[in-house]
Amino acid sequence: MTVTTGFITGTGFYTLPSLREVRNKTVRTPYGEVDVEIGTLGDRDVAFIPRHGKQHSIAPSLINYRANIYALHTLGVERILATSVSGSLVPEWGPGTLVLIDQFLNFTTDRASSFYPMDGKLAHIDVTDPYCGTLHENLLVSAQAMGLHLRKGATYACLSGPRFETRAEIEMIRRLGGHLVGQTNYPECVLARELAICYATVGVVSNMAAGMKSELTATEVLENLGSLGDTIARLFEKVVLSLPDRYDCACRHALDEAFL
Ligand SMILES: [Zn+2]
Repeated sequence: MTVTTGFITGTGFYTLPSLREVRNKTVRTPYGEVDVEIGTLGDRDVAFIPRHGKQHSIAPSLINYRANIYALHTLGVERILATSVSGSLVPEWGPGTLVLIDQFLNFTTDRASSFYPMDGKLAHIDVTDPYCGTLHENLLVSAQAMGLHLRKGATYACLSGPRFETRAEIEMIRRLGGHLVGQTNYPECVLARELAICYATVGVVSNMAAGMKSELTATEVLENLGSLGDTIARLFEKVVLSLPDRYDCACRHALDEAFL
C-alpha cells in the first residue's frame, strides 16, 4: 500500500474525524520510531501525525522532526499538509484567522534541521520559496469552494519555546517583517523539501502575540482554537480528493541540482 499524502497537525488537532479504517503503524527510521495513524479519506490513504503527540506532551524543541518527515517519506508520501498554530502580529488577524504561510524567519537554535550529509553526500536545497505552490493553489481554491476565508501569504517567525515570547521579541519580529509567531514550523518545512516532498502549512491564529493585548495564557490559546480543527480537517480532505494521485511539481525536483 502506498500512502501519498501526510498530515502533520499542531496544537488542538489531535484526531481527524473523517478518517476511516484507521490503523496504527510504527515506522522505523534512522532517526527513531514514529507512531503514524493511517486511514482512508474518500478513496485515498493518508497518514496522520499529531506532532505534539496525542496527549500534547512533546515540547516543540523535543519533537523528532526528522523522524516524522522521514517516516512519511518511507510510507511513500509525496505531499504534506500541515497546520501551525500561531500568535498574530497583525491587528486585523484575530483568533480564528487562517493564513497560508509562505515565508519563514528562523530563530530556533535547539533542533536538528537537516538530513544531510546523507549517504556521504551533502545537499544544498533552494528555499527561496520554502512552501509548495501547487498545494497553495489547491488550498486556496478548496477554501473558496467551502466559503472559507483563507488568507494568502504570511511570514512565520519560529522560536524555540515552549515559553511564549517577550514583548521585545515580538517587537523585533514585527520590525523584521514577521506576521505570525510560533514554535514548530521550522525545520519541518525544509526537511520536507530536503526529501523532495511538497509541503504547505496553514497558519491558525490562536491568539494575539505577546504585548498586543493583556497577558497570554495557554488556556486562552486552546479555547480560541474551538472547532477550527474540524474545519481544517474538511479543508485538507477536499484538497486531498481534488489532487491527482501523482503530479509533477518543482518541489519534486528539489534535489536535481542540490549536490555540489
Ligand atoms: Zn510542490
